[in-house]
Amino acid sequence: ETIPKETDMVLKVSQIEIETEIEIEIEIERSGQILLRNLYLSCDPYMRGRMRNFHASYVPPFVPGQPLKGYGVSQVVNSDSPDFKPGDYVTGITGWEQYSLVRPTQQHLRKILPDDDIPLSFHLGLLGMPGFTAYAGFFEVCTPKKGEYVFVSAASGAVGQLVGQLAKLHGCYVVGSAGTTQKVDLLKNKLGFDEAFNYKDEPNLDATLKRYFPQGIDIYFDNVGGDMLDAALGNMRVFGRIAACGMVSLHSLSDPQKLHNLYNLIPKRIKIQGFLQSDYLESFPRFLEHVTSYYRQGKIVYIEDMNEGLESAPSALVGLFSGKNVGKQVIRVAHQ
Ligand code: NDP
Repeated sequence: ETIPKETDMVLKVSQIEIETEIEIEIEIERSGQILLRNLYLSCDPYMRGRMRNFHASYVPPFVPGQPLKGYGVSQVVNSDSPDFKPGDYVTGITGWEQYSLVRPTQQHLRKILPDDDIPLSFHLGLLGMPGFTAYAGFFEVCTPKKGEYVFVSAASGAVGQLVGQLAKLHGCYVVGSAGTTQKVDLLKNKLGFDEAFNYKDEPNLDATLKRYFPQGIDIYFDNVGGDMLDAALGNMRVFGRIAACGMVSLHSLSDPQKLHNLYNLIPKRIKIQGFLQSDYLESFPRFLEHVTSYYRQGKIVYIEDMNEGLESAPSALVGLFSGKNVGKQVIRVAHQ
């Protein structure tokens, strides 16, 4: 009964650490909680949706006055849980703060082993939720076949860069779109896409997709929605599949545009399926094994955009919506 509420403790720890840098001890015995020192925080587009009370969202809104919550990589400082001991590295939901006091079961924490050849922060991207989204979305939702024509939007981002590389490994022809020349260059020259284009330089997306896919698109992995989804719908092949992964272009709009080509779904029998990576968690161990092995064999690469310091987190998160990030956006809060 003497233990303060978790959120009170978290706020207190952050404030004391930031303002005075004194060492404090937190009594967690018999609380079932663990104290984490946060090392890396993930910036993810869905966090924008948590900043408004949007009835169709699948996660509850952030609570004003409390630190944001999101995926992180942390080290256990103190533990009242038999499953975690001080020194362990973990990933799961943590706070945007230097230290977090959490209940492991509520935060979906899992232990990760530090590897010499895999950065810990990769558990927020390649080997974490975005990587798994790419893997599950591509294989389970898109049901790809060798030789098919695949289009990926936001292709250089955390999810898109892996979708494109998995599609290439699967024997598909892959085109990606991104918002700068630098990203287009990465897609073609580092990530192995067959083609890529800067959608901001393309006044007519329908004509652009016709140019890159004269035979039409079999699979569209949609990360952006809006005009690009509309243009892709008009260029799908019969029995094409669209994985409606995200609609980042709509996140900041108060008046989302209409989709003119939706009707194509019917005559072309296109399957467009919304999905959540959490629907496929039974495949998570297989995903980790495959992608780790591809990475170790040099068959895939992964690009991170690392910002330094907790104070850089808000602008990095906002930057996702203007395309400031090049690759997976991560914040380094502390050194290992
Ligand atoms: P990214 O790392 O790709 O970052 C977001 C990118 O979106 C930006 O870099 C920018 O790239 C692009 N973007 C921003 N605003 C716009 C706009 N108005 N129009 C077009 N593109 C824009 O993010 P993630 O890879 O983490 O996420 C990609 C998508 O996947 C998001 O929609 C996200 O919500 C979704 N998602 C869905 C999950 C699920 O379970 N269904 C799980 C995880 C993510 P550029 O410069 O190329 O425009």
